[in-house]
Amino acid sequence: MCGIIGYIGKKQALPILINGLRRLEYRGYDSAGVAVSDGKKFTKIKAVGKIEKLAEKLKPLDLNGSVGIAHTRWATHGGVTEANAHPHSACADDLVIAHNGIIENYRELKEKFLKGHELKSETDTEILAHLIEVFYKGNLTEAVRTALKEVRGTYGLAAMHSDEPDKLVAARFGSPLVIGVGDGEYFLASDTSPMLAHTKEVIFLDDGEIAEISLSGLKISSLDSKNITKYSETIDWDEASAQKQGYEHFMLKEIFDQPAVFKDAIRGRYNLTEGTAHLGGLNMTSEQMHSVSRVILLACGTASYAALVGKYALERLAGIPTEVDVGSEFRYRDPIIDRNTLVFGITQSGETADTLAALREAKRKGAFVRGIVNVIGSTLARETDGGTYMHAGPELAVASTKAYTNMVAVLILYAIQFGRLNRLTQATGERLIAALLEIPTKMKEVLAQSERIKTIAEKYKDSVGMLFLGRGINYPVALEGSHKLKEISYIHSEAYPAGEMKHGANALLGPHFPVVAIMTKNQLYEKMRSSVEEVRARKSPLILIATVGDESARELADDVIYVPPTMELLEPLLNTIPLQLFAYHTAVALGRDVDRPRNLAKSVTVE
Ligand code: GLU
Repeated sequence: MCGIIGYIGKKQALPILINGLRRLEYRGYDSAGVAVSDGKKFTKIKAVGKIEKLAEKLKPLDLNGSVGIAHTRWATHGGVTEANAHPHSACADDLVIAHNGIIENYRELKEKFLKGHELKSETDTEILAHLIEVFYKGNLTEAVRTALKEVRGTYGLAAMHSDEPDKLVAARFGSPLVIGVGDGEYFLASDTSPMLAHTKEVIFLDDGEIAEISLSGLKISSLDSKNITKYSETIDWDEASAQKQGYEHFMLKEIFDQPAVFKDAIRGRYNLTEGTAHLGGLNMTSEQMHSVSRVILLACGTASYAALVGKYALERLAGIPTEVDVGSEFRYRDPIIDRNTLVFGITQSGETADTLAALREAKRKGAFVRGIVNVIGSTLARETDGGTYMHAGPELAVASTKAYTNMVAVLILYAIQFGRLNRLTQATGERLIAALLEIPTKMKEVLAQSERIKTIAEKYKDSVGMLFLGRGINYPVALEGSHKLKEISYIHSEAYPAGEMKHGANALLGPHFPVVAIMTKNQLYEKMRSSVEEVRARKSPLILIATVGDESARELADDVIYVPPTMELLEPLLNTIPLQLFAYHTAVALGRDVDRPRNLAKSVTVE
């Protein structure tokens, strides 16, 4: 949440900062601001709304300077106003900071240190700016260090002082920060996406580290002043993959990326002749793998629905009891964990605060802790003892699509790998792998129906609510379909296991209330069909996801979207795609900001 970008070098900072903010906008977008130093003083400009509002405001101004910081906000403390937008200063205008996270003890700090200080905003961040001002004695790095020792909470922080115009100070605890190393220049950002256009050499800051960045070099130290040597890493994401490539929205591009990135998720990770999978990053001996008697999948939002698919797969193929828990609940529930429990944290960004905290709790209790992550070098990737990158490439739309698919892919590979250690036969393993290899072509068949799905979405766009139904492996698909619709179209929707309808949700049905049901040909087809008949009898408009060739679906439904057949456990890889497209086209038809839905942000780094 929230994006920070900083630049120090020889070029004009402003265009770099504004383009960087555009890349980071998916992290937060209620207001934005920039501060540029001309070597003597700062000019600070802020605006409420999207980055383009800020860009418009900056257009007539001639802001020169080769050092600067900028921020796109996702408000936690204080309303969405210009005064609350970052960067913030203290009493004097000689200090500016941009902050991502929450200063939990801001009230205490204010009481203790800020008597007589005049606050101009309602944010927790401004308290931190004043605190740094209190401790400033001519050395910004030391003032930041002293201030942060007093802070409880999370921060990704960028700071500048006009008395030291050639210096940027950065610090992190709980909110990500990356330093890009260019040729005679440095970049600072919340993730690597704004750097890709400039450099691929990056240094990830770790919790408790402070970086002093100046043209004469980079010094990293700990909060207690120990020098730290860090080496840069080369990132392999390319600039093109972080652009829309002709699609109207990132979300649509990312939906269409799925056949290609799915191949990246499984490449080199299966063995067709032995009917097994091999995820080397798991980093467990075969003895340890045999000792696993329980799996817990920790995730939030879309990742939790991918995790539910993983639960079905792990239980069915490997016979290992598997639970799914959302990070925000797990961490406070006093969960029961033992040394034979394997816990996976599943997060696209690898920065999801709730998932990270839950994983740390599991680690404390002695579990094997592993990650399934998309963003290379992210906190979760670095904190776990092993795991798997899902290789979905940069996902910039707030609503997750291709990362979901690749999470499911990786979980199915794990289920096959663990399954082959006990009850999964080689023949079934082989069939599963062969079926996985057919998925990209089948995904393309579903994607080819985008225009027809658009027509269906336009028909139902004014509904007050919708219901998504599925059974078995398609229940998580219904959950994800419903989640996607509400995230980006703002239509209220719920997902139900179809058999549960009669216990309550049937009361909602009627001509005004469309139902989307996943009724593909699998072992629960007849059961699902009965539930669908019940919906039809109550006159709800019906949209069915059915298997190619199931002509009887047309008689039941108002609209049918056909998907190719595959093995039952793999169905979510195909059946979710029409629901992604349905949500997308509904949101577009309603004029929503598809890539940046209201009140949401990607990479949820606050609790
Ligand atoms: N807590 C700060 C605020 O509300 C920072 C929020 C963010 O990470 O964007 O301004």
